[in-house]
Amino acid sequence: MKPYRIATLLLSCGASLPGCVSFPRGNTAATPVRSGADPEIATFIGKIRAVDNHSHANSVVPGDSDADALPLDGIPIDLPAQLRPDNPDWLAAYKALYQYPHADLSDAHTTELRSLMQGVAKAQGEKFPTWVLDQVGTEVLLANRIAMGPGLAPPRFRWVSYVDALMLPLSTKAEAAASPDREVLFPLEDKLLQRYLSDLRIANRPATLDAYLKTVVTPTLEAQRKGGCVAVKFEAAYLRSLDFADVPAGMASEIYAKYAAGGEPSHADYKALQDFLFRTIAREAGRLGMAVHIHSFEGFGPYYGAAGADPLLLESVFNDATLRQTNFVIIHGGGVYAAHAGAMLWKPNVYADVSLMTLVYTPAKLAEVLRGWLTQYPEKILYGSDAVALGPDMGWEVAAWIAAKNARAALALALSDMMRTGEVSRARAEEIATMVMRTNAARLYKLELK
Ligand SMILES: [Zn+2]
Repeated sequence: MKPYRIATLLLSCGASLPGCVSFPRGNTAATPVRSGADPEIATFIGKIRAVDNHSHANSVVPGDSDADALPLDGIPIDLPAQLRPDNPDWLAAYKALYQYPHADLSDAHTTELRSLMQGVAKAQGEKFPTWVLDQVGTEVLLANRIAMGPGLAPPRFRWVSYVDALMLPLSTKAEAAASPDREVLFPLEDKLLQRYLSDLRIANRPATLDAYLKTVVTPTLEAQRKGGCVAVKFEAAYLRSLDFADVPAGMASEIYAKYAAGGEPSHADYKALQDFLFRTIAREAGRLGMAVHIHSFEGFGPYYGAAGADPLLLESVFNDATLRQTNFVIIHGGGVYAAHAGAMLWKPNVYADVSLMTLVYTPAKLAEVLRGWLTQYPEKILYGSDAVALGPDMGWEVAAWIAAKNARAALALALSDMMRTGEVSRARAEEIATMVMRTNAARLYKLELK
């Protein structure tokens, strides 16, 4: 998910939230789960120190602009209900993280909230991001960012870079004209490619595809790996459909050469080149020991193509024998296509995470998704938050708290149900909980956990 601005909405409506709900303070370990969850398994899950597969944690640099390659600031978005300010989760997070004492967000109380937030930020300084992880029960957090920054050091924070820009070496003008959303997004990719080129001190786009791969694609990926990257991320579903065909190198080279010096490629030509580059980047990432993350969800954006984000569209990529050294993670679990993501888990190198579903879906709905997946491939499911700054009063730490609470509640519901039906023993349920929250990711990224 990307940052968009809902804080104004929150503050202008002075949302009054139900005062009858009691909220936990401090660590999510203390979060009670809803009825239906076995209390013992819920307590067990509450104590697991998590590995968060996907987030956009901010550094402590003011106005940190490296947290997202495609921020959706310029795109008007109607938020789903779970993300609206009248959802009591926001208030619960303020109470838990900042000891906010009120049951409403009136103007006067919001001023108080801001000073509580500023107090913690000041007291923690560069340790603020680590403080957040301790509050939400996360040991290691993968931060999907253009670059890391102060406060986001390993081993607690691990980098996931963005690589769509490498797939777009030609003019994107015609592609951008396809929708108002893409008019905003493609120039951001152009800018990021420029940054990658200038990092490599390359002034002009190489004339041939071969030279582009050798002097831009591979060196950029190698530099990212050297910089501590554990995975690379494609947000391609914002820009096109996920049907990446197996295009011969000769054809891709011809298309590249034809337009490298300028001119607008046809959509068919550009798609073929992107398809080739996607697979090449994925292959290189695998060779270098980085996983490939792919956004797959029904949003965001008024012109976003949900049909093009279906993980089933990736099947030919997953079945490409030359890509079997690359591990893929379906980020956001495919959302409404979660069952399709489940079908892809049969491939030996495909995983799925629950990020964003932890913010947009209720725990009950997420539990249903988990229930289906865990019956089949519990070793392929990863916890993820998609923690992201939603506005000045809604930092990534607030989303991180809500996502952690929802994920733990959903996992408890799903595993309780599996115990109730006799599908798993209590011991196995605890084992699966630990795998999902922590050890599956540790194995995938070769993390050394405490
Ligand atoms: Zn995200």
